[in-house]
Amino acid sequence: MTVRGIRLRLKWTLLSVVDLLGFPLKLKGREGEVQIICFHGICADTDAFINGRFYHVSAFRNLLSEIQQHFHIISLDDFSANRLNPDKLNVLITFDDGYRNNLTLALPVIEELRIPITVFVTGRTDFPLWADLLDVAAAHPAESGTVLNELRAYAQVKTVRELKAWIPLQPQEVVMEINRKLNELPHTLLDKTRVFWELLSNDDLLVLQTKSLVSLANHGANHLSFVTLSDVGMAKEIEEVQIRLTNIGSNYGSVFAYPYGQHTPATIAQLAELGITQQYLAGSGITDKPYLFQRMTVNPFISVKNMLRIIQKGRFY
Ligand SMILES: [Zn+2]
Repeated sequence: MTVRGIRLRLKWTLLSVVDLLGFPLKLKGREGEVQIICFHGICADTDAFINGRFYHVSAFRNLLSEIQQHFHIISLDDFSANRLNPDKLNVLITFDDGYRNNLTLALPVIEELRIPITVFVTGRTDFPLWADLLDVAAAHPAESGTVLNELRAYAQVKTVRELKAWIPLQPQEVVMEINRKLNELPHTLLDKTRVFWELLSNDDLLVLQTKSLVSLANHGANHLSFVTLSDVGMAKEIEEVQIRLTNIGSNYGSVFAYPYGQHTPATIAQLAELGITQQYLAGSGITDKPYLFQRMTVNPFISVKNMLRIIQKGRFY
């Protein structure tokens, strides 16, 4: 861990102690501004995490309910029309990757709390994303056969972590080949880990589209890093999802979140050229155009109160 990482962990631990002592949480500032946050998957409380992209359903409900109490939650419609609460920090809640659990586990919670969400979907239905299958394999090495060793040898890296950093930067053909390889994981393993990789079907999207609390937007057809794509490649990835969304009646095919958040000035210019009206980034980076928006990915390993502090500040430190 880096010095900064240690310092951060110490800070959040100290603040957790303050919370245990019962001091009230003070959240002030940034009134009238917007903080966009990003979830991925939701799993059952009894499921053991295999990565940092999932929330247990009860922790998810708890965090959303606290966000609702302290901030003003807005929909994508509100955000697009600049309908903000001037007296509070406005929070736009988004989900990436289009997991089926967004329908089965997240929807009941957001309907109960009456909270609007935006889901960025890919073009995939029955062909899972490589990162999810790689997490499944890494969490169950004994049941994964030889696939992990083969991939590490192919990429000439030692760890799964290195593999995860390496794959998105490869040409599209290589990424798709690795994806196909990971789809050969044993059926018994895939079956029992379904919640971590299963994506929304077209029928699922139709159901979500009927819900006024849900907006469906564009995350690229195959979840490829846009920094590796040609202009034609970017256009194809975007159009495929635009068609999928238009077919089910969503107006948000031109609202786009970069896979892995990866972007460059060139991708930003090209997407603007293609008529993309909102580009969602991740991590820190440039937001010098009115259509560029920074997002913060929530972290299931950070306490709810600390997560509220982080959302309030708009940064992890
Ligand atoms: Zn994604």
